[in-house]
Amino acid sequence: MARKMLIDGEMGKPDEADVHYDFDLFVIGAGSGGVRAGRFAANYGAKVGICELPFHPISSEVIGGVGGTCVLRGCVPKKILVYGAAFGGELEDARNYGWELNEKVDFNWKKLLHKKTEEITRLNGIYKRLLANAGVKLFEGEGKLVGPNEVEVTQLDGTKLCYSAKHILIATGGRAQRPNIPGQELGITSDEALSLEELPKRAVVLGGGYIAVEFASIWRGLGATVDLFFRKELPLRGFDDEMRAVVARNLEGRGINLHPRTNLTELIKTEDGMKVITDHGEELHADVVLFATGRIPNTKRLNLASAGVETDAMGAVKVDEYSCTNVPSIWAVGDVTNRMNLTPVALMEGTCFAKSVFGGQPSKPDYINVPYAVFCIPPLSVVGLSEEQAIEQANGDILVFTSTFNPMKNTVSGYAARKNSHEAAC
Ligand code: FAD
Repeated sequence: MARKMLIDGEMGKPDEADVHYDFDLFVIGAGSGGVRAGRFAANYGAKVGICELPFHPISSEVIGGVGGTCVLRGCVPKKILVYGAAFGGELEDARNYGWELNEKVDFNWKKLLHKKTEEITRLNGIYKRLLANAGVKLFEGEGKLVGPNEVEVTQLDGTKLCYSAKHILIATGGRAQRPNIPGQELGITSDEALSLEELPKRAVVLGGGYIAVEFASIWRGLGATVDLFFRKELPLRGFDDEMRAVVARNLEGRGINLHPRTNLTELIKTEDGMKVITDHGEELHADVVLFATGRIPNTKRLNLASAGVETDAMGAVKVDEYSCTNVPSIWAVGDVTNRMNLTPVALMEGTCFAKSVFGGQPSKPDYINVPYAVFCIPPLSVVGLSEEQAIEQANGDILVFTSTFNPMKNTVSGYAARKNSHEAAC
């Protein structure tokens, strides 16, 4: 897209300079990208307003909370559950290190859940304070566009506020989607999975991405029987093939049942849970079915058409390399643009936006060598090209060096032997 950026401090036409706006910047969505952009813009001296939906751990079209997905129903709560779940394997390993544990070790799911909710509530407060300390005015309500320089916020009691802004930033993130199969309403998404009343005894996870693999690890670590279904031969499509195979072996080593190249076709309610039917004709019984089948950009209710903002086939806001949409006064950062859907990337995009528009330093986000971590148990981390990408970029002319390492801890703990005997049995 070739167009002129609207950057503050540049000489505008005389009639533009005379226009009075309520805000220099109005941000819709106070998640990772929106909060970062709003705070930094305010630090550059801009008058900033931001709106966010009311807080609840489980989101909906009208529920959200300052902090956004990462803080309230993504990275943070997930990691708390992963840390909690990792003790399961550690306790098992501890026996060979001389720890005399009773046969039955009790685990209190409600306590972990309570601690998780306490922590995200604390972080929600911190994010609000970050905005207030930067001088950003927060509005609780649903924002939508009314035009290229106008935003409407519908507050909880239904009253509508209308504000003009020289720049508008769309930072409304993404939402989990469900597969279109009969009984899909019986399944849950990651939002609900992070707030389940009861810990499932039998969990089915559909999806091969990092969210699927992480929840499978959490539930298995906490003692559930877990069946993981995915479309490809290995989970974590897009990651290095060799690492995908290692993760698959580790998941099986921890007792997760993998079902490659398998989809779910139907969920049927039963007296004690649900029956899960696969496209291989298998039937399983589960207490919980998690759909971790992808997320879509959150643009449906933004009234983008009122300003003529373009979206792609997925509904993602189309932006140039400075995060500007086809409308010069409207910008977008984070998952809503569906570029690289990670928190540090949303933060980087928010920073670059504020620097470019209010700091007088045009800055493009840099997507090279972004590190990834997958919090399966044990975890995986990756940075740089995968082997497959390197082969493609160098036309096959690469050297590959690999090394495997069995941590000493695993030999004494018995984990290595347990894993090997599982592999031998498969
Ligand atoms: P969000 O953080 O989603 O913020 C968007 C905000 O806009 C929300 O608060 C929403 O309520 C609000 N909103 C939406 N519509 C409106 C409206 N009309 N008016 C007002 N407000 C509105 N990333 C990592 O880097 N590492 C991880 O380990 C990781 N784990 C994840 C685990 C899970 C289960 C999930 C779901 C995601 C995870 N992510 C992780 C991804 C990460 O959470 C997102 O990339 C990040 O939150 C994107 O930030 P954002 O600002 O674009 O959107």
